Formats: sequence, C-alpha cells, structure tokens
Amino acid sequence: MRVIAFFLVGLAVHVIFFISIFDIYFTSPLVHGMTPRATTLTPPASRLVLLVADGLRADSLLTLLPDGSSRAPYLRSVIEESGTWGVSHTRVPTESRPGHVALIAGFYEDVSAVAKGWKENPVEFDSVFNESRHTWCWGSPDILPMFAKGASGDHVYTYTYPAEEEDFASTDASRLDSWVFTQVKSFFQSAKSNSSLRASLLEDKNVLFLHLLGIDTNGHAHRPMSQEYLDNIGLVDTGVAELVSIVEEFFGYDGRTAYVFTSDHGMTNWGSHGAGHPSETLTPLVVWGAGVHNALRVTEPQPYDDGYLQDWKLEHLRRVDVSQADIAPLMASLIGVPIPVNSVGVLPHTYLNNSDLFKAESMYTNAIQVLEQFKMKMTQKKETTLSFRFSPYQQLTESKQAGFINKARMLIQLEKYEDAISLCQSLITHSLEGLVYYHTYDRFFLGCSVVLGFVGWTSYVVLVILKTHARLNRHPSILRQMPSYTLERLCMCVTVVITGFLLIQRSPVTYYIYCLLPVPIWYSVLKESRTLTDLIQSAPSLPLWKCFGYFVLVAFGVELLVASFFYRAVLTVGLAVLSLWPFLSGLVGKAKFHSLSWFLGSLFLALFPLMPVVGREPNIHLVTCAGLLALFTSACYLWSSRRRTPLHLGDRQQFVAQMLHVAVCAYVPSLTHSSLQQKQGLPLLNQIISWTTLGSSLLVPLLSSTRLFHRLLSIFLSLAATYLLLSTGSEALFLPVLSWLMFVWINIEQEAMLAQGVSGRQELSTIDFSANIDIAKIRHLKLDDIRRSYFFVFFIITAFFGTGNIASINSFDPASVYCFLTVFKPFIMGGLMMWKVIIPFIIVMCTFETIQVVTQLSSRSLFLIVLVISDLMALHFFFLVQDYGSWLDIGTSISHYVIVMSMTIFLMLLSVFTHILTSQRLVLWRRPKVHFP
Ligand SMILES: [Zn+2]
Ligand SMILES: [Zn+2]
Repeated sequence: MRVIAFFLVGLAVHVIFFISIFDIYFTSPLVHGMTPRATTLTPPASRLVLLVADGLRADSLLTLLPDGSSRAPYLRSVIEESGTWGVSHTRVPTESRPGHVALIAGFYEDVSAVAKGWKENPVEFDSVFNESRHTWCWGSPDILPMFAKGASGDHVYTYTYPAEEEDFASTDASRLDSWVFTQVKSFFQSAKSNSSLRASLLEDKNVLFLHLLGIDTNGHAHRPMSQEYLDNIGLVDTGVAELVSIVEEFFGYDGRTAYVFTSDHGMTNWGSHGAGHPSETLTPLVVWGAGVHNALRVTEPQPYDDGYLQDWKLEHLRRVDVSQADIAPLMASLIGVPIPVNSVGVLPHTYLNNSDLFKAESMYTNAIQVLEQFKMKMTQKKETTLSFRFSPYQQLTESKQAGFINKARMLIQLEKYEDAISLCQSLITHSLEGLVYYHTYDRFFLGCSVVLGFVGWTSYVVLVILKTHARLNRHPSILRQMPSYTLERLCMCVTVVITGFLLIQRSPVTYYIYCLLPVPIWYSVLKESRTLTDLIQSAPSLPLWKCFGYFVLVAFGVELLVASFFYRAVLTVGLAVLSLWPFLSGLVGKAKFHSLSWFLGSLFLALFPLMPVVGREPNIHLVTCAGLLALFTSACYLWSSRRRTPLHLGDRQQFVAQMLHVAVCAYVPSLTHSSLQQKQGLPLLNQIISWTTLGSSLLVPLLSSTRLFHRLLSIFLSLAATYLLLSTGSEALFLPVLSWLMFVWINIEQEAMLAQGVSGRQELSTIDFSANIDIAKIRHLKLDDIRRSYFFVFFIITAFFGTGNIASINSFDPASVYCFLTVFKPFIMGGLMMWKVIIPFIIVMCTFETIQVVTQLSSRSLFLIVLVISDLMALHFFFLVQDYGSWLDIGTSISHYVIVMSMTIFLMLLSVFTHILTSQRLVLWRRPKVHFP
C-alpha cells in the first residue's frame, strides 16, 4: 500500500513540475486595454497593396542572371527607380503564421501558442487589417482566416481557394499564384459595374492583400535552386506589374496607392524553413507608390558588410534594412490608420517621402503606442505585486516617461525634427526592454519555487533510501527529536503566509500549486530529520573521501547523460570510460576473462553511437551477420556451461529450436529485400514467419527453465529473432553486442560484490529466478550500489540513443518493417518501430533484474537511486527549456524534459513486466491423465 501511495505522490509531483514550464516559459506577452493611436496629419496614401510572396528568399529575388538581367525585371526597375528597398530580417521560428503576424500585426508570434496547438489564435490581437476601413484578401485558406477572425466587425473580406482543392496545383504550384492574380483582376472588373463595391474601394484607409503561396510550395517540392522555384518568381513579377497597372487604371492614376512587396520567410537550399539560417531569415522588402521615397543613389559605401550589395550589384542604391515587425507601423503610417496596439515595430522613417514634420509626428505616435504597452504591463505587474517586492524598470520610471514625452513635444514645436526622431527611437528601445523586463518578472520567483520543490522531493527520496535501505548508526536517545506538532504548526504558518501573499498579489491559481507544493514536501523531509541526525552521527565512521569522490563522479556522469541528449557521440566517450572500469577498480586481477570481455564489449558498443541514424542506407548483409553472431555467442555459452549446468532434454530441444528460428529470421530480411527489389512483392511465407515470430516472442521464453542464464538466453534468442526481422543494417548488430556486454556485467557484478567481502557466494548459473528471495539475506545498500544504478541508467540511455532507432520514428522511414507489411498503415508501422525501440530496453531491464537477484538487493532500493539520478537530470533539463528559437528547438527542449520526467514511470512499468518475464513459467505439456471408464 505504501509503495502505491509513494508512486502516486511521485507521479503527481512530476506532473506538476511538468506543467509548470508552461507558466514559467510559455506565457503570452500581449497586454490589452491600450487606446489605438494615429497621427492627425493627412496620410500620403489612401490605400495600400500588400503582396506577400510566401517563402521567397532575398537572394533568389535580387541576384541577377548570368547575362546581367533580372528574373524579376519589374521589381528590379522599382528598386532602381521608383521605390525604396532593403532586407527584412525575420525571426525564428521562420514559419508562415509567425511571419504574417509580424508583418501585419507587428509583434513576434506568441510562444504560448506552443501550449495551445498552433492552429487557433492563442489570444485575440490587433492588426493593420483590423484598423483599416476595408481589407480584401486573396490567397491560402491556411493564412487568411486568422486575420479575418481576429478583426472586429466584418470589414475584412477573404477569398481563398477551398483547402481540398489546393491540389489543383499539384502538378504546378505556380497556379496558386495565377489563381490569386486572376481573382483580383476579375474583382476589379466586377467593381466597375458594382456601385457599392466601387464606393467602398474609393474610400481611404483600405488594404488589398495578396498572399502568394506558389513559391513556397515549389520550394518545398523542388528546392529553391530549381527551375520551378525560379520560374515562379518570374510569374509573380509579371503578375505584380499587371496588378499595378490594373489598380492604377481603376483609381484613375490618382497617385494615392502605396505598394509593399515582401515575404514571410525564406527557405534553405534543401527546401525547408523554420530555423534561423540566413537563407530562412533574410527576406526582400520593396516599397513604392504614394508616400514612399524614390530610389536614392549613393556613392559612399553603405553600412552593411554582409557582401550582398556586391552580389546583387546594388551598391549604388540606398538599402534600408528593417526587422519584420517594422513593416506594420510603416504600412499604418502610409495610410494613416492607428498602429496595431500590440506592435513592437519601429517605424523605418527613411522609407517615407514626406515632410520632416510628418516623419517626426509618425515617429512620436509610434513611440507613444509602444510606451502605452509598457505602461499597461507595468500597471498590471504593480497591481499584482506587493509594494516592497516591486522594483520598477529603472530606465523608464514614471518621471522619466513624462520627461521623454515633454522633450519630444518641445523638439517638434521647435522644428528640431531630427532630434525628436532620435529621442522617440530611444524611448521605443527603452519601452521594449522594459516590456521584456516585466514579462519575465515572475520567472525567477516561479523557477525558484519549482526548483525548491524539486530539490525537496529528491532529498526526500534520498532520505527514504537512507532510512530503509542503509545501515546507519542509530542513537535514539541522544538527540531529542523535534516534536512533530511544532513542525506541523510551522508548516501551517508557512502555508498561511504564502497563501496570503499570493492572495494579495492576485496570482493565478496555478501559482498557488507551484508555491505551496514545496511545503508538504519539505514537511516530509523535516519529519525524517531523525535519519539526517543518524547520518550525521554515523558520519565519522563513513569513508568521507570516498563518498565525496562518488558524489563528484555521479554528478559528472549525470552531466554526461544530459549531453548525450544533444550529441550521441558523448555516449561513445562514456562507454570508452566505462570500458576501463575493471582495470580502475582492481577487478581485473580476480576475473581476467570477464574484465577483458567487458573492455572489448564496451568498445564495440561505443562504435554504434558514431554510426549514422537508422534508415539511411539498408545493408541487409549486416543483418545476416548479426544473426550469425547471435547464434555463435549462444552456442559458445551453451558449450562452455555444459558441465556446470547440464540441460534437461526439454530445455535442450527448446534451445535448438530457438536457434534454428534465429537462423531462419536472419535469412528472411535478405529474402524479402531481394524479392522487393525484383518488384515481386512481399512473399506470403516471409510475412507469416514474421508475424508468428512477433506474436510468440514474449511467450516462448516463458516455456524455458527459470535458471538464471537459461531464462536469459531464451529471452535473448526470442527477442533477437524479432529484432533481426525489424532491422535494415548495422543496428542489427547492436542487440548481440549489447546482450554480450550485459552478460559480462552480471558476472562482473558478482565478482565486485565478492571483492567487498559479502559472503554467501552462490554459483551464478544455479540461481533460480523463481526461487523466493530470502528476506533475511537482503543486504543494506552500499556506495557501490550507486554505481550499479548509474550503470543501469547509462545503459538505458544507450539503448535509447545508441542506434538512433528513435530517429526512424521521427522520420517515419518504413523500410524497417517491410518483412511484416508493405502497404502503408501508419499505426501498425509506428507500433512495430516502437517495439524495435523497446527491445533493447527489455534486455537492459532483464539484466538489472538479474543483478538485483545476484547481489541480494531488494528491487525497490536500487530503483529509488535510479529515481534520484533521473530527477537530477530532469532538473538540469528544466533549466534548458527554451522559449526562443525555431519550433523544432522549442519542441526538442520540451521533449527532453518530458522524456526524462517520464523515464522513471516507464521504467517502473517495464520492471514489473520483466519481473514476470523472468520469473514465471508456463507448462504446456503436462503428462496426460488417463481415465478409465
Ligand atoms: Zn510561409
Ligand atoms: Zn513553407
């Protein structure tokens, strides 16, 4: 009962620790309640045309062809004559949705989306479209609806191709763009005869948005160097030229239309985007039309040293780079609508062709708009923080804010526009820094309380280990134990204080959980203070230096495991170090053969993390070799142990049958492979063999004798057969090598125990799994058991990352399941791949089970040490969770944390499973009783 309670409490604590990262790292930065701000001066443009060429790289658009002409002649002519251009720097994650949010709403996509499934708007937000009088959009159904949905009132009209018809462009993705241009053309055609539409179009503050998905789709399908991608750029250029002439004609060449051409993100050479490579983050920006500065010729070198100006032959034309979010205030200023309230963009005023007064006033509006957000955030934080705990952002206290505003107004009145602009810019910079300051204000506090809980839980587990499984000098009468009612009162007081504190701060409900959880945990720790005093009492008799050495080694080992999550090769280093263990510990003198085997086995296993991940190139010969290796080692073992533990007839028959089975399974993959290569499909016989092998793999071992190595050998042969069928190359060798090392490990552990003077050696091969362990024989924990537990965690991680099997699930390469089925069935295929990942775990777990039996330990004690090790790793991963970078980086950092947190739970279930697998026996053929009538 107590074990179950302990398990449930542990589970709850871990779930809470896991959820906490969403409150600490992934919260929405947006604030609400600001008033939209616009300048009172007349804007230069009445309408804006925004063209977003999805997935267009800056260099693809701007690099000239070998003959010196451009593949986008219209846009090139704009850059050289009538417009202003630059590179728009996007932020990771370089995906369509965050890119469009930055462009149109002026803020960088909210990372809290990560917790809410990306699809929906995590929070409602303001955008240029929302502030406009009318916005008409054409393009992909994946992008447009999010702005229409967020807008208040119904003044955002979307025209999308139906999602299911998106594959009308499957042969040629540029048809997606042709569709948009054709729709816009017919829209203007119909507006000529539709008077109400015409009237709306003739109003001011209008936006037309064209989302062109063809280039992105072609880039994914054919990569950005392909003719398809490059031709699509030409098609878009022609479309833009045509569109401009239609628009200008419709509005009677009134010179009141501004145009913005850009893209949401770039694309890598291999046709992907999402991360932070320059090919993904550098996008083109070309702005022209009403209110925009003409191309400016420059003679001096420009302040960009990235070499692109030379590459693109544009040294002589002024380049103005922007951050992607800066485009939103630019668009807002051009048509005179308020800047979206959550925008963090800084108006790139050099794009404007207006009076200095207009530039200064626009900049001032921008500054006030960003400052409003800062003030709102500060007010919120101040209201929910106790006054003594509140330390305001020093650069922008309330008096400094007023000073900035007064000075800016005065400079504008004195017509010192340049100074006013730079003052406003520095106000924006301070406000943005202040926003980050207040956004991460509670992060330290919450992080501390979670870490406090974590440390408390780990200490509690350590104390439980010491109390129940270690031999400590007990001095019951010397030290008076702290009366428990005092402790309870103390905890009640702390709870009341924390609750009151959070109540005054009006904290969210989840904060109560994170802050109050450490209280019961530490209460339990302090309740065990008796154990602690016992420990201190027995300290003088303990080998302190040895303990300290162990502590350092384990800390180093845990860090090594953490690093192996990022670089598999670290496992190679770890295995190389482990291979020296018998030599360093002096065991080599007692067990020469086993020490040498351990050394060689570790080094062989160390090769696997260096190999490429599974599924790159099938090499079926290696699978056959692995089968032979498995047979050879089994035969060697049976031969060498034939005298010590003679086999019964039934066991002998079973081993022969199992070895024949492995031989068949080593041959099936190559047969299947050649049959598939000759396009003859999967032979039915192979399929039958494969499925029967899989189905029987966990039942067959149960038939064998429960003698230690007989049962282990049977498990190994049975799992190896399945593993061979699921292998395509070098990873097939992983299982025999791992199993060999595990076999040696069991042997060496007994030697190690013997070396420490634990009496009662029993011949290993005579130990029986099913024999009841004598409770009296179970010994206390020793320092060496920390090493055993660490080895176990290390081998579990090696089993997981060693071959890169897990990568085959991510990339879903079905080559490894072709012996079972060739028709695409994702669930069955995924399940089979998962089973392949689990098989090495079972081998390691069975070994651990054996070692507990051999070294006379209760299974729970070693498991608690494993729990401590994995919690230490989890604590490290807690600090590595990141809320910046590509979705992949963010997702990976979360999944590492999850893997380690759930590892213990998974291992607990696995240990129950392997306990059954090793100790139970099925008897099929009882001697039949004969009844006579
Ligand atoms: Zn995109
Ligand atoms: Zn894309």
